Amino acid sequence: GTAQADVRVKPPAKAPSKVWLDANENSAGPPASAIEAMVQNAPHAWRYHFDEFGEFARLIAASEQISPAQVLFGVGSSEVIASAIGAFTSESKPMITASPTYDIIVQLARAMGKAVVEIPLTAPQWSYPVKLLAEEAKKAGGGMIYLCNPNNPTGSITSVEDVRWLVGNLPPDTVLLVDEAYLEFADPAKVESAIKYVREDKSVVVTRTFSKIYGMAGVRAGFGCARPDLISAMNPFMDNVIPYLGVRAAMAALQEKSTLVPERRKNNARIRTELCQWLDQNKVRYIPSQANFVMIDVKRDVREFSGAMFREGVAVGRPFPPLNTMLRVTIGSAADMQRFRQAFLKVYSA
Ligand code: PLP
Repeated sequence: GTAQADVRVKPPAKAPSKVWLDANENSAGPPASAIEAMVQNAPHAWRYHFDEFGEFARLIAASEQISPAQVLFGVGSSEVIASAIGAFTSESKPMITASPTYDIIVQLARAMGKAVVEIPLTAPQWSYPVKLLAEEAKKAGGGMIYLCNPNNPTGSITSVEDVRWLVGNLPPDTVLLVDEAYLEFADPAKVESAIKYVREDKSVVVTRTFSKIYGMAGVRAGFGCARPDLISAMNPFMDNVIPYLGVRAAMAALQEKSTLVPERRKNNARIRTELCQWLDQNKVRYIPSQANFVMIDVKRDVREFSGAMFREGVAVGRPFPPLNTMLRVTIGSAADMQRFRQAFLKVYSA
């Protein structure tokens, strides 16, 4: 499209002199078709998007081989996850997860007054201890298991076999939520989507987002896939309106899925491999990653290290206790990673 040239792009709100590798964003940004869709539809943004609901649900359903009744949109996948916590956990039925994982969700569950059970990820693969998760759910008489695959902040995966075991051994009244925010970055030979269990009518909710591989974090569009009765249980906790321009952008981006996703996956993997090879050469340890970020052992308090990196112009991820010496860096462009390596070497050898 030509819309990109028509838009007068203002400088980003974040200082351009800094490199932002702190939030697992994707600076490749929205595909041109999504930008064009937002521009073209801006005059219609006075409306909610009730007419587009059906179309969006059909597009997502077609792209995931499920039915529109198995789709729930959210203001990012965050809203869908929050609604699942609302629907499937309580003071007695916990959210059961492994740590460290996406801490915002754990904090949210606690703030909502829900019980939370956290079990350490299994060393040395940093995968979810599926048997222990199931045991906890059985003990509590139900609840919701939150499994992030690939996991944030470790970038590690839980194997196809382990996820299959967990789905086949879910205790009564237990829902498994698989957060697949980073799935598209992973090698399809190593990780498979749990949406196949939604197709089999299991008690599984899968969340996906346009924030990561599609580079549209600020657009705020995500969705969940689940059995219609689970969708109905989550629905009362949803706002039921997602940004009109977000829907338009997401629908446009979806049309490019078959080329955009493999291209961006390949590009991310190449830059990530370059970083990891460089870390190997410098004898720096890290957790092998299937996502668009890598957890690096800086062998000292990560808060001090991150502060020093910021002063060098590179923003990196927040601390993820109890991994207090591990630094999470997002995979940016090749040029961003060059800046990261320069700053890292300076701080690491200081
Ligand atoms: N899940 C995980 C694991 C994440 O890391 C994030 C964002 O960083 C989200 C969900 C939320 O993404 P969004 O609400 O933008 O879809």
